[in-house]
Amino acid sequence: MQNKMQEVSRRRFLAQTSYMSAMYAAASMIPLRALGENLAQDARISATPVVDKGFASVRKVGNGLYATISDTTKGLQTMCNGGFLAGKDSALLIEGFVSTAGAAFQLETLRSVSQVPVKGALDTHYHFDHSLGNAVYGANGIGLWAHVNTAKRIYDNYGTWQRLTKEQLVAPLEKQLASAKSEAAKQHLQGDIATVGNVYGMVAAAQLALPNHAIDPAMGPHKVDLGGLAISIEHYPGHSGTDMIVRVPDQNVVYTGDLFFNGYFPIAFDDEATISGWRNTLKMFASLDKDTIFVPGHGQVCGQSELAMFRSTFDDIEEQARKMYKAGVPVEEAQHQYVIPEKFSKLSTFSWGFSIGPTIQKMYQEWGAKK
Ligand SMILES: [Zn+2]
Repeated sequence: MQNKMQEVSRRRFLAQTSYMSAMYAAASMIPLRALGENLAQDARISATPVVDKGFASVRKVGNGLYATISDTTKGLQTMCNGGFLAGKDSALLIEGFVSTAGAAFQLETLRSVSQVPVKGALDTHYHFDHSLGNAVYGANGIGLWAHVNTAKRIYDNYGTWQRLTKEQLVAPLEKQLASAKSEAAKQHLQGDIATVGNVYGMVAAAQLALPNHAIDPAMGPHKVDLGGLAISIEHYPGHSGTDMIVRVPDQNVVYTGDLFFNGYFPIAFDDEATISGWRNTLKMFASLDKDTIFVPGHGQVCGQSELAMFRSTFDDIEEQARKMYKAGVPVEEAQHQYVIPEKFSKLSTFSWGFSIGPTIQKMYQEWGAKK
C-alpha cells in the first residue's frame, strides 16, 4: 500500500514537473534581477537571504517582515512572491503559491525564524499561482484568509477547469488562431495556447483548498496586531477584483500582490481587471513614503523608482493604443499591434494575451463607454 501511494505521488510529481518545464518554453520567464543599488544599502533589508532554495529565496525586509521572492528560471514551485510577518504574539503568511511544495517551503522557513502561533495565511487574490498550494496551510490547521469573493472565484474558475479536458479549454483560442489575420496575432495566440495548456496542467494536478476566513472590504481596512507589529490588510481595484495588499505603516513596507509587477508588463486578462482602477491604485502607491519598500507580486523587492517604471508601461500602451483608436483600428487588430519600445525591451510580457493584448482591449472598452 505504502509503495503504491509513493508511486502515485511520484507520478503526480513527474506530471507536474513536465508541465512546469513546458511552461518555460511557452511563457516569457525572466531571470530574477539583483536588488537595486539603493535597496542594497537600506538597513531594513538583510544583505543575504535567510534561505535560498533556488526557485525562491526569503529575505528580511523589516523588523519581523520577510519577503519570499521567486526566481522562475530556477523552478516553478512558488512562481509568485509572498512572505510572512512575525510579531511577538503571532504570525501571518502571505500566498498559497502555485504548488504545495512552494507553500510548505514558506511555512518551514517561517518556523525556522519564529515559533509564534500562525493567525492565518492570506491569498492576495484568487489566481492559480497564488492559491493552488493552499492545502498545506489547511493541513497545518492554519486558516486561509482572502477577499470575500476569492473562494468562489477559485472554485468557479479552477473547479470548472478540472471538469474540462485541456482540448476543451483551449478550443476558443484555437478558433481565434484559425482566423488570425496577422503574423503577430498568430504568434501571440500560439504562445497563449501553450501557456493556457501549461496552466491547465498545474490546475488539473492541484487539490483546491478554498479560503475560509473571508475579509470583506466593505468593512474598511482589516487591521491586525501581531504583537508589536501592526498591519493593515486592504483591498484595491486593478488586477483581479479580489486584490488585497498588506501594509506595515510603521515600517513603510507594502506587500502588493499582483497590483504591482516588477519587471513585467501588466497582466490584465482577468474579467474583473480594470485599467483605470489599477492606475488609480498605483497612484496611491506612488503617494506613499519615498522610502517605501514594495514586495511586488512578481519580480525583485523594490522601491518607488521601479513603481514609476511599471506605471509608465500603462502610459506607453495608452499612447500607442489611443492613436490606433483614433485612426479607427478595430480592437481585434489593435491588441496585437503594440510595439515594445527599447526602454521596455527587458520587461517580460509573460504571454501576450494575458498582458498587453487585454490591457489594450480594456482601454478600448473604457474609451468606448465614455463616448
Ligand atoms: Zn494574478
